[in-house]
Amino acid sequence: MSLAEFSPRQRAVLAAVADTLLPSLRRDPDPGDYFATGALRAGTPDRVLSLIAGLPSPSDVARLRLLVSLLGSPAANLAGGFGFRSFAAMDPVTREALLRSWANSPIPLKRAGFQALKRLCHVAYFCWPIDGARHPAWTATGYPGPLPQPAAAVEPLPALAIDRDTALDCEVVVVGSGAGGGVAAGVLAAAGRDVVVLEKGPNAGSRDLTQVEGDMLSELFLDRGMLMTQSGSMPILAGSCVGGGTAINWTTSFALPDAIRAEWDDRAGLGLFTSADFGGSLERVMARGNVGTTWTTPGRRDQLLERGLTSLGWDVHPIPRNVTGCREGLECGYCGYGCRHGAKNSTDRTYLADATAAGARLIPRCDVTRVIVERGRAVGVEGSARGADGRTHRVAVRARVVIAAAGAIATPALLTRSGLRNPHIGRNLHLHPVSAVIGVFPDRVDPWSGSLQTRHTSHIADMDGRGYGARLETGPLHFALPASAFGWESARQLREDVARLGYMSVVGILLRDRDTGRVAVSRQGRARVHYEPSRYDVQHMRRAIRAGADVLAAAGATELITLQTPPVRARPGQARWLDDMMARADAVGYRRCRMSYISFHQMASAAIGRDPARGAVGETGEAFEVRGLYVVDGSACPTSTGVNPMITIMAIADHVARGIVRAW
Ligand SMILES: Cc1cc2nc3c(=O)[nH]c(=O)nc-3n(C[C@H](O)[C@H](O)[C@H](O)COP(=O)(O)OP(=O)(O)OC[C@H]3O[C@@H](n4cnc5c(N)ncnc54)[C@H](O)[C@@H]3O)c2cc1C
Repeated sequence: MSLAEFSPRQRAVLAAVADTLLPSLRRDPDPGDYFATGALRAGTPDRVLSLIAGLPSPSDVARLRLLVSLLGSPAANLAGGFGFRSFAAMDPVTREALLRSWANSPIPLKRAGFQALKRLCHVAYFCWPIDGARHPAWTATGYPGPLPQPAAAVEPLPALAIDRDTALDCEVVVVGSGAGGGVAAGVLAAAGRDVVVLEKGPNAGSRDLTQVEGDMLSELFLDRGMLMTQSGSMPILAGSCVGGGTAINWTTSFALPDAIRAEWDDRAGLGLFTSADFGGSLERVMARGNVGTTWTTPGRRDQLLERGLTSLGWDVHPIPRNVTGCREGLECGYCGYGCRHGAKNSTDRTYLADATAAGARLIPRCDVTRVIVERGRAVGVEGSARGADGRTHRVAVRARVVIAAAGAIATPALLTRSGLRNPHIGRNLHLHPVSAVIGVFPDRVDPWSGSLQTRHTSHIADMDGRGYGARLETGPLHFALPASAFGWESARQLREDVARLGYMSVVGILLRDRDTGRVAVSRQGRARVHYEPSRYDVQHMRRAIRAGADVLAAAGATELITLQTPPVRARPGQARWLDDMMARADAVGYRRCRMSYISFHQMASAAIGRDPARGAVGETGEAFEVRGLYVVDGSACPTSTGVNPMITIMAIADHVARGIVRAW
């Protein structure tokens, strides 16, 4: 999209929206004052336009333009009771009232529109420094901002430079280099196969990891971190760089629980997941990632979680992590934007490093558009790569085996674009919706600091006797997550909540979703995610919010805030405070943009099953419709893992890749 597609009138409306959500709240001559620095001074409207310009789907851009046009329409505003005026021509009080009417509207589409604009404006405002170096919100909260680069640099992996249209031959081509693709490439290259890895995202070294959140979201995340479900109710975060999700994730490394292994076999009609063979895959990938509890010193957030759980008498366990030498004093809270010390054993540091050392060729910034299928057999892929010259060049790779590992959103789109029609492709999508309860503490927490995640409880992991429920973990808070997820009732409330970030911690709720959504594919071949937490799953989320509030209160929080719009607040201590809080949370609701969710885990959209009636790929990972085409990423999971899924996905890739080696 070119920015010119937004008319001057539409730009004026966008600027007015940004100014309404983030006004200058104080007439203060000090340009560094957080409350005085509004969106206009911060250059937020231009940043919003460039975020919109970066959206990959023209239909998302068109929907935003429609939304802005609606706000600019005097007739529509008159119908809403706000007078015959464009949004841009209203006084600030009326503008805020109009946005509030959208935020709390009984019409889900209006709520979704509000949330989309809010997220764009807040991310644009909070996630980049103003005037190049610092942000007044960082100063106000005591957030250090990006830290100085470490003395020793970690170099990117050796990669093939593309400076012209390129055709390659190899034995195995792997599309995507994350948890699944990285492992598959490593196992196959170690077995002597000639491997080419094509990765859509960049090949970052530590010098590229600037810790400026906006830049890192744009560079290292799928769709520049702006991917949403079609209903607008859930942002979807996934890595998009060499190492994929493993390079930017929080290093929590759980093996798939035994009960879920059994459930998966039952569902898939297989004996695979309970087999010793799959157990061996889990053990191997954990050993290669050095998974253990040596480096699990809890930071302040996790100390609070542990304190709350212990005082309630609930189980609490250290989280195994895939790190080495993750000493205290490293910038650990920041490594969700990539570890600059090489301490995180992501696939780029392990399996892909092994693969390139064994001769595998890696092409970063290469977007694969389709698998080439001839007479029912995959014979290669084609796509395009951005060269060092900034130009785009065609890439075609012929291979005997094609491995799809583009993640559970992009893989079903790739398979569909390539002509596969198995009905399971794109269906059965699980997103592990995550929400949270915020606790405000009397002392500083600095929630951006300390190891990413080191404690968890499974106290409410099985709420229905069938393995569905929630796990409670905490997670690092910089500004992007509050910008996306904090609930909204007014511009002032949001700014004041963010100003207290240094005193906040969260209990994150990782919901094991029983019910599913789907990845559809637009006419242009782009993935569109349709997903709404079901009533059944939302009942579990509700109980988990109550549990999260209980834990934070037991840990000493003086105020609790839900991620609802409007947020529900409670002060623990008074009689029946929790019942009262939940009654108010129930009145707001938990579905369709009433509460913020984020997906960090996408799974099961091209599941393994015994036959085409049960899945898209068989026990070996090979597609039922196309020989020589394998799926090894989160898509292949039969349902949701219930625990953070990286290790499970890596084990599936190990299992599939070893099978290919055996059958070669
Ligand atoms: C912020 C965050 C924190 C997380 N923390 C944890 C955690 O602590 N523990 C845990 O277990 N899990 C965690 N996860 C989830 C975990 O990282 C993912 O589940 C896992 O990486 C998924 O593996 P995958 O192989 O399916 O896909 P990915 O690892 O996402 O890899 C897919 C790769 O394919 C590339 N790709 C996509 N389309 C194309 C194309 N057309 N052509 C070429 N390449 C393409 C993408 O750029 C990407 O690099 C986290 C995720 C996020 C976003």
